[in-house]
Amino acid sequence: MPTFDTVLYDMPAQHVARITQNRPEQRNAQDIQLTYDLNAAFDHAAQDDDVKVIILAGSDPHFSAGHDLRGGSGKTHNDFPVVGTWGGFGLPGQEGMMANEEEVYLGMCRRWRNIPKPTIAQVQGKCIAGGLMLAWVCDLIVASEDAAFQDPVVGFGVCGVEYFAHPWELGARKAKEMLFTSDWISAQEAHRLGMVNHVVPRDQLGEFTLEVAKKIATKPSFALKLTKEAVNQSLEAQGQWTAMLSVFNLHQLCHSHNTQRFGMAIDPSGAPQFGSRARG
Ligand code: ZN
Repeated sequence: MPTFDTVLYDMPAQHVARITQNRPEQRNAQDIQLTYDLNAAFDHAAQDDDVKVIILAGSDPHFSAGHDLRGGSGKTHNDFPVVGTWGGFGLPGQEGMMANEEEVYLGMCRRWRNIPKPTIAQVQGKCIAGGLMLAWVCDLIVASEDAAFQDPVVGFGVCGVEYFAHPWELGARKAKEMLFTSDWISAQEAHRLGMVNHVVPRDQLGEFTLEVAKKIATKPSFALKLTKEAVNQSLEAQGQWTAMLSVFNLHQLCHSHNTQRFGMAIDPSGAPQFGSRARG
């Protein structure tokens, strides 16, 4: 099995690979190391012909606290191969920041969403902001009863996370409420809205998700690939990617505004809200 600094990789059943975010002390906050480890693990699973289904999990207690704004490993793009863009990360002004977010957020999510094998997010505990992006790029989401979802970034001056799937996942009206209020969405409500496929007791989450993966893994791999593509193409026909690209530009306008006004890419008055569980 391949090994990574911040990700565990195993094969819990025949034809099923499981990728587990493994920064439990940081609540699996996604720094650049975790981003590129996830990408390498997804690549490995995608390129292994024995793998037919991929599970994305997070070490307890929480699936994901979102992007690690504290810098995490301290590494930079110079420590990793550029995957989806042509660089420009060190350029001044919004140019460098936009290039960075194109690479590690929007580009990676687009890449993972299009992995030619079914993917299942296995979500427990809190799933916040950037964590939503990881769950949303997966084809299915299985959540434990205690799972809760939140995008609080409007509170610090940004119009939602970079991979703007909210209206597609929740419907337009609920997406607006989620963003305007920063309120948590429970696993049960996410299930009712169609964002989550199944809600199961926490102690059954891993086993249940694996059973779903094993059932999918009995199907022919090429049919699975083309079926995934069929659904994704239907979303493309509705303009999903065009809409996401458009919103990504608004997202950059938010960061640029905050930088001009506050000297940092987010509105610091909202910063204490970040990752807070008290708001739930
Ligand atoms: Zn951003």
